Amino acid sequence: MNIHEYQGKEILRQYGVKVPNGKVAYAVEEAVEAAKQLGSDVTVVKAQIHAGGRGKAGGVKIAKNVDEVRTYADEILGKTLVTHQTGPQGQEVKRLLIEEGCDIQKEYYIGLVLDRATSRVVMMASEEGGTEIEEVAAATPEKIFKEVIDPVVGLTGFQARRLAFNINIPHDLLGKAVKFMIGLYTAFVEKDCSIAEINPLVTTGDGEVLALDAKLNFDDNALFRQKDIMNLRDFDEEDEKEIEASKYDLSYISLDGNIGCMVNGAGLAMSTMDIIKHYGGEPANFLDVGGGATAEKVTEAFKIILSDKNVKGIFVNIFGGIMKCDVIAEGVVEATKQVGLEIPLVVRLEGTNVARGKEILEASELNITSANSMADGAQKIVSMVK
Ligand code: ADP
Ligand code: MG
Repeated sequence: MNIHEYQGKEILRQYGVKVPNGKVAYAVEEAVEAAKQLGSDVTVVKAQIHAGGRGKAGGVKIAKNVDEVRTYADEILGKTLVTHQTGPQGQEVKRLLIEEGCDIQKEYYIGLVLDRATSRVVMMASEEGGTEIEEVAAATPEKIFKEVIDPVVGLTGFQARRLAFNINIPHDLLGKAVKFMIGLYTAFVEKDCSIAEINPLVTTGDGEVLALDAKLNFDDNALFRQKDIMNLRDFDEEDEKEIEASKYDLSYISLDGNIGCMVNGAGLAMSTMDIIKHYGGEPANFLDVGGGATAEKVTEAFKIILSDKNVKGIFVNIFGGIMKCDVIAEGVVEATKQVGLEIPLVVRLEGTNVARGKEILEASELNITSANSMADGAQKIVSMVK
């Protein structure tokens, strides 16, 4: 799960990680009021969306007085920002962070991720802050330094100091940088983050080490014990179909193609997308209905697929292991009764109760094309939507 920058900064503050003073605003006058209360010489107006690259897209503006805050707030609120992380459709700005401007000496990068190779949390740092870390990694990988963190000991003082030395933090600020890194690591672990990225971390003219940006992602599987984080969820930032799917505990990711897929098991779902592409089609989604899905769950999954206007055909590819083919068939029939079906539907069933499943589909008198194998089904649906 993703949260906004201002929310991330609020969490970091609790862990002693320094961030500039700031306030969230949902309307222009609220933004102006926030700027007056901050009372700083320079104020930064920042679009709050769940995507980076806002600066380049015009979503971060430096205001020299309250009138400029009003102008920028008016310009950015309601605007659809298109950044390299939003996709071409962009994301509408509904919240702003009104923040104290700070006197930046230099921008750095600090990130924490779980490294699957070592199965440990890794802290990465670079003196090339402000720009995308992917670009630094591609062009000048020697400028990225890493510390692998022992989960029992945590980030040690000497590791943090070594990173700070490597990225050339001024010597008089080393102590503050170490405190910053240890605070960030503690927040990462205690809040069950999957990513914590500070880009940029800055040193300022008055000798501070601050997080100017904050991107925190959380492990969905830990949200049950992070109620305060769950409350920060912003549904405006999420795909409606994905929200609906999460209510029924379906793993659904919406994609750009036109073939809706309903599959059980993440591996089979991935290979179904591959085989559709192999035959020249484009999947509209990834959907794993899970192992023990009920007819109700399948019905909801089907409705979600059909609510996508781009879907021109559906491929149901089920291997009935724990999941029974007749349950899937019932769900498909029920869903098409409820929402109607005017597009081609190809079904490939295999496994437990497959004969019973096929009977149900045939008895329904729905216009269903059955397939004998995955390849057969993929070829059929691809040619039907063409
Ligand atoms: P994004 O990564 O989405 O572009 P950032 O929060 O990193 O957004 O902001 C982009 C740039 O704007 C920063 O690299 C920094 O130079 C500048 N900036 C952001 N916040 C402030 C601030 N409070 N004071 C001064 N400059 C800022
Ligand atoms: Mg940034």
